Amino acid sequence: MKHKPVQVWKCYSIEGGKLVRKKRICPRCGSFMAEHEDRYTCGNCGYTEFKTKK
Ligand SMILES: [Zn+2]
Repeated sequence: MKHKPVQVWKCYSIEGGKLVRKKRICPRCGSFMAEHEDRYTCGNCGYTEFKTKK
């Protein structure tokens, strides 16, 4: 198996001193979005996407 380099910076970011997981990509600017309890926010353009409930 080939070893893939792990790009941790793609999954995590420091915002306001807190470690924030990033799982989604902003549809507006393509930046990674920060996950919150009920929504995702883009730190680059301010786009907010609310989590959908089943
Ligand atoms: Zn954005």
